[in-house]
Amino acid sequence: MKRCVVKFGGSNFKSAGDMAKILKAVRLYEKPPVIVVSAFYGITNELIAVMDSTVQDESEILRITDRLKNMKRESLETHIIDKTAREAVYEKLRSRLDELSRVLLGTHYIGEIPPFIRDRILSFGERLSSLIVAAILDFHGIPAVERLPEDIGLITDGEEGNAAVDFAASEASVASELPEDKVCVIPGFYGVAPDGRITLLGRGGSDYSAAAVARCISAEALDVWKDVNGYLSADPKSVEKTRRIERLGYSEAAELSYFGAQILHPRTVEPLEDRSIPIRIFNIDNSGDKLKPLSVIGLDADAPKGPKSVTYTDDFAVLTLAGAGVGIKPGILAKVTGALDRSGINIKSVVTSQTAINIYLNEADLERTDTVVRSLDMTAVSHIIPRRDLSVVALVGDGLGEAPEVAEGMMEALDKRGVRFTIFSVGASDAAAYAVIPRKQRAEAVRALHERYFPTV
Ligand code: ASP
Ligand code: MG
Repeated sequence: MKRCVVKFGGSNFKSAGDMAKILKAVRLYEKPPVIVVSAFYGITNELIAVMDSTVQDESEILRITDRLKNMKRESLETHIIDKTAREAVYEKLRSRLDELSRVLLGTHYIGEIPPFIRDRILSFGERLSSLIVAAILDFHGIPAVERLPEDIGLITDGEEGNAAVDFAASEASVASELPEDKVCVIPGFYGVAPDGRITLLGRGGSDYSAAAVARCISAEALDVWKDVNGYLSADPKSVEKTRRIERLGYSEAAELSYFGAQILHPRTVEPLEDRSIPIRIFNIDNSGDKLKPLSVIGLDADAPKGPKSVTYTDDFAVLTLAGAGVGIKPGILAKVTGALDRSGINIKSVVTSQTAINIYLNEADLERTDTVVRSLDMTAVSHIIPRRDLSVVALVGDGLGEAPEVAEGMMEALDKRGVRFTIFSVGASDAAAYAVIPRKQRAEAVRALHERYFPTV
């Protein structure tokens, strides 16, 4: 049997006691797995905040390093009862935190944070987790070593903040640098550029790290441990009676992430799909005594067809460029997308008609996009209209793009509950159909679609 890659995320590291659940989960594996870890819960956000304040205020450095030290100490005191063993881990912890202090102090003195230093600072959240997890596993009789991306050659394309893994450069070295007789613990969220700089893989990127490692070692499966019951037919916070989805195709998982489901990072399936490596979702609060996944993601052809889940995202805004002929005038879209790309703004989608180009964006990018587009001064565009307070609600399931009754069914369900949609799309992907709706009607829209496609009997 091949090895599994196991991912523990921030939600598995909320309190010092959580490590007991991790120990229990790791013991379920026959062959020592490769473990990829995120930062402790909320730590990346804290590092982002502190990084900006240390530029002004040196005392913030001590505050954050003390806080991180105390947090890890608590985990170590709870789980490594032998004082000498614990002292050895403290020693490593201190030297890693010293390194963080020195980098932060550097930014304080130069008065700014260059992007490659920003990536290095944020990678510490994950690097502290891997140190602690490897030490605790090892102390509890599960031989474990920490392996850093820089040690195993997890190479990226070098883009700061949002890099992609370069598989041609990484595969052979990652596979040979992970001893099989021990659990290897790798910090997620970053890889190294060919010149050795640390580059982050985007927010929430440790799922993608784990998928990348799984591809490099041709893993048996990527096992993602969460604190929820796998994929459900809707977010249980918005719908009373949900159904669990036992099997999903890669495209469905990707669409669900894209439309707001919080289970996996949208790029997780990318490295795995063409190798047919399954992704299995487990609940750490409900691990049982056998490895029994709650949801399994695999080849589209192996998953049942039809509607699987209703999902939504509130992180959504539209910039509409209106003008009598924008739809047929060549070059407008090219100018806009080129300028947005140069400004580092990600376009989620574009929907055009003869008189309007609608650009879908993350809400936080709306204002900047508006400024960039206005600065292009395009005569064919008569108005630029930013549209906020919108949400997207989507129905996800393989085959929906070709099912003629989907558009009618969704519209009817929304209409019946008085939900007004402004844009509707079916067919852009075979696995999803969606409506753009006013945010204040989002809860109602999710309930309406869930009731239509997953009625409770
Ligand atoms: N800690 C990182 C983040 O919060 C990466 C991750 O958790 O996946 O974005
Ligand atoms: Mg995550």
